[in-house]
Amino acid sequence: MSDELNMFIKPQPLTQIADVVVVGAGPAGIAAATAASRCGRSVLVIDDNPAPGGQIWRQGLPSQRKFDADGVTRDRAVEQMLAAGVRVASGCRVIDAPDRATLRAYREEDGAVLHVLYGKLILATGARERFLPFPGWTLPGVFGAGGLQALVKGGYEVAGKRVVVAGTGPLLLAVAAHLHDYGAKVVAMAEQAPAWKLAAFSATMLTNPSKLMQGAGYRGRVIGTPYQAGTWPMAAIAGEGGLLRAVKLSNGKKTWEVACDMLACGFHLVPNTELAALLGCELRGDFVKVDANQQTSQQGIYCAGEPTGIGGLDAALAEGEIAGLAAAGQPTTHLQKRAEAGRKFAAGLERTFALRPELRTLAAPDTVFCRCEDVQTASLAGHHSWTEAKLQTRCGMGPCQGRICGPAAEVVFGWKNASVRQPIFPTPVGALCSNDSIEENA
Ligand SMILES: Cc1cc2nc3c(=O)[nH]c(=O)nc-3n(C[C@H](O)[C@H](O)[C@H](O)COP(=O)(O)OP(=O)(O)OC[C@H]3O[C@@H](n4cnc5c(N)ncnc54)[C@H](O)[C@@H]3O)c2cc1C
Repeated sequence: MSDELNMFIKPQPLTQIADVVVVGAGPAGIAAATAASRCGRSVLVIDDNPAPGGQIWRQGLPSQRKFDADGVTRDRAVEQMLAAGVRVASGCRVIDAPDRATLRAYREEDGAVLHVLYGKLILATGARERFLPFPGWTLPGVFGAGGLQALVKGGYEVAGKRVVVAGTGPLLLAVAAHLHDYGAKVVAMAEQAPAWKLAAFSATMLTNPSKLMQGAGYRGRVIGTPYQAGTWPMAAIAGEGGLLRAVKLSNGKKTWEVACDMLACGFHLVPNTELAALLGCELRGDFVKVDANQQTSQQGIYCAGEPTGIGGLDAALAEGEIAGLAAAGQPTTHLQKRAEAGRKFAAGLERTFALRPELRTLAAPDTVFCRCEDVQTASLAGHHSWTEAKLQTRCGMGPCQGRICGPAAEVVFGWKNASVRQPIFPTPVGALCSNDSIEENA
């Protein structure tokens, strides 16, 4: 492990106490922690990655940073957070909230469970990719688009590989540009949203030149690759040795195959709301309901970034700063315009990249739906709810705890997963049962 990472995963006391605890060290969490700490509060950030940054600011190996355009911004944000006096517990995953002022976090490195006592809590838990099952989606060579990007940052070699990028959402373009920078040949980009929706969305971006420039910058890097709107993956096709050989695409009128070595595929993002739900925070649709100060329905618990709406970096930073200031009892009026712009952008993304009905019927009866428990689509078809399907087939009961197949079942079958139970991430029984002595806070 590099010294840089060591600095964040150094052993911490098993009991941590802070005025403000922030869960998640993405842009929203970093902004929240910095703001609260600058107001004189003691602040602890807990994050499950080896170093702060979250998804967009994920730090890769030093050797992989040559195209890390966000690196300077991230490094500055992290430096400012540490300079403000924020403590960071990296490599720790919050798994439980046993009472109204305590969290439990599992530290994978040594299997310890941290008891974290807070005055105010800020949830900045981000989002994950949505996957939809289609024939061949579990073949070797098929990746989540953001997942492949993260692997490349970690040193995974894509130079010379032919990659199809498919699914929906602005992440596809960012991933295609990133893979191209690392030497991949992006041979096709398939976006399921129709061209007219994309054009309408781009027109609204005229009032947001920085976002427009960002999108144009990504497109410019892969200008030689066709970007096909209204097009989606029908199947991933295996060749010799069961490896991916081609992707079958459709635009509803015709289907065709594109030969490739890799498919990077994702259907926009799903907010990570499990911890908020466990804490009793009210949801509005798929997102955590917050007021203008980012406070949830639970007094003293705030939420910022992707769990309140998929609005990208600017929205995450604005909401994070508001949450940090509000948790420290400071005014937030000067930030409301920025947050409102973020909410508008998030609503635009939701309209533009709404999933088309054809995607609900991509999976064949023998397509694996729940890859953790190897449950096929046909086994789910006769059931009426997520809970019933879970009990009868074990769908969603594997290590991902329904984080992948749950959102897919919502799209395909219309089932909502209403219940959340602790621990919200798989945790070794030994760690859960251990009665660690509660040490003094550092
Ligand atoms: C896979 C992926 C790749 C992306 N790549 C790009 C990109 O290239 N360009 C772009 O513009 N946008 C990208 N995005 C969108 C990007 O996430 C947002 O624009 C922005 O980073 C959101 O910031 P955030 O702070 O809300 O969440 P995040 O950056 O997601 O940060 C949330 C953090 O909380 C941690 N966390 C969650 N739950 C817990 C828990 N229980 N305990 C401890 N830690 C927890 C997560 O691991 C993560 O580190 C990507 C999104 C995803 C899902």
